[in-house]
Amino acid sequence: MYGLSEEDRQIQARARGFADELIPFEDEAERSGGELPADVTAGHAKRARELGLHATNMPRDLGGGGCTSLQQVLVQEQMGRVTNALGWVAATPPSWLPAVATPGQIERYVRPAIAGEREECYAITEEGAGSDVDAIEATARRDGDDYLLNGVKWHVTSYNTADFAFFQARLAGGPHRGEHAMFLVDLPSPGVEVVRTPAYSHTISHHHPIVAFTDVRVPAANLVGAEGDGMAFAYEWFRFERLMVAARCLGAAERLTAEMTAFAAARRAGGRPVSEHGLVAGMLADSLTELFAARAMTYETARAIDRGADVKVSHAQCSMAKLYASEMAGRVADRAVQVFGGRGYMRENVAERFFRELRVERIWEGTSEIQRMIIARQMTKRGPALLA
Ligand SMILES: Cc1cc2nc3c(=O)[nH]c(=O)nc-3n(C[C@H](O)[C@H](O)[C@H](O)COP(=O)(O)OP(=O)(O)OC[C@H]3O[C@@H](n4cnc5c(N)ncnc54)[C@H](O)[C@@H]3O)c2cc1C
Repeated sequence: MYGLSEEDRQIQARARGFADELIPFEDEAERSGGELPADVTAGHAKRARELGLHATNMPRDLGGGGCTSLQQVLVQEQMGRVTNALGWVAATPPSWLPAVATPGQIERYVRPAIAGEREECYAITEEGAGSDVDAIEATARRDGDDYLLNGVKWHVTSYNTADFAFFQARLAGGPHRGEHAMFLVDLPSPGVEVVRTPAYSHTISHHHPIVAFTDVRVPAANLVGAEGDGMAFAYEWFRFERLMVAARCLGAAERLTAEMTAFAAARRAGGRPVSEHGLVAGMLADSLTELFAARAMTYETARAIDRGADVKVSHAQCSMAKLYASEMAGRVADRAVQVFGGRGYMRENVAERFFRELRVERIWEGTSEIQRMIIARQMTKRGPALLA
């Protein structure tokens, strides 16, 4: 099914087996605020690398997997079957970076990220700039051979485990004054401080603190690409991440559908399995049907990228895949809680965990509303070519 090649099936099976190894750790992670013992997490990360599931999106000549977009989707789909972000050990470093990085940046950031020795985080969103990234107020001011960075960033995911941050700012002077630029900031660095670490709905070991950057001095060699390039990187990364969000939502929906179906077949009420009650059967059928549609859409979007589709068309298709798959997974999680009844409201139940965890898939990497605006804008410009 889905016309997968032998190579596709092999990496899919490896990822599925690894996800099945991680699933037994979910309950412990949930009970301990998302944290597993450090040696256990390190073991999972090592295993992901050994299985070729880490950095699948990075070029082979730098040590990455060099996988097709479809294969990357297949891997992330399986990681999406696991709750509590335990699948994040199969990480996807910034695939847009090698093309624009200097040789020094390749050695200091790209290769170590691919090898699993260094981890990045993204400091882009601000209190007054989320959907509208262009509204950021953080500044970068050239000072001799350095830049001085200032700004307060919100929701900096994985800051607690990261070794360096991508910091997006507005240039405060020079020929590109007012334009965006992206910088690499080593962590820790003087002037970088956590303001606070809010609690979020999910229970994962990765924090999303508010981080203040105050007169942080970085060498000009830490500028990524050229002054004024900042937004271009963000768009490229959004395309990739939106497709991977869609992939992980497929995995979550598959797990939920399988688990709620097994439960509904086993649990008897009114003298028969609850799966035979029409109202429950409808929830199972709708979930599987929507999963099928989302999977076909996501795989085809990945295939189009592998065929070298027009980048604007792919941009809209990635938005469609993210929009549909994330909303589909949210509906499936809601039904799963319902099918499990009171058990579905217990944190030890996969449906309860996904019910909370999947909510953010409709918010980060561009909200559902933003995806709809992107799709509608491209539809107006290109018409049916979007689906060609
Ligand atoms: C758990 C988590 C982790 C995150 N991790 C990171 C990270 O690592 N790095 C990072 O930089 N950011 C991160 N973010 C930020 C995330 O990308 C933003 O939250 C998201 O883009 C939405 O921006 P916002 O929160 O400012 O919402 P707002 O922009 O304030 O939106 C509020 C509401 O208005 C709607 N809206 C806004 N503009 C429009 C429009 N033009 N048309 C229609 N509706 C609109 C939105 O859809 C939403 O419903 C994270 C967020 C969360 C929750």
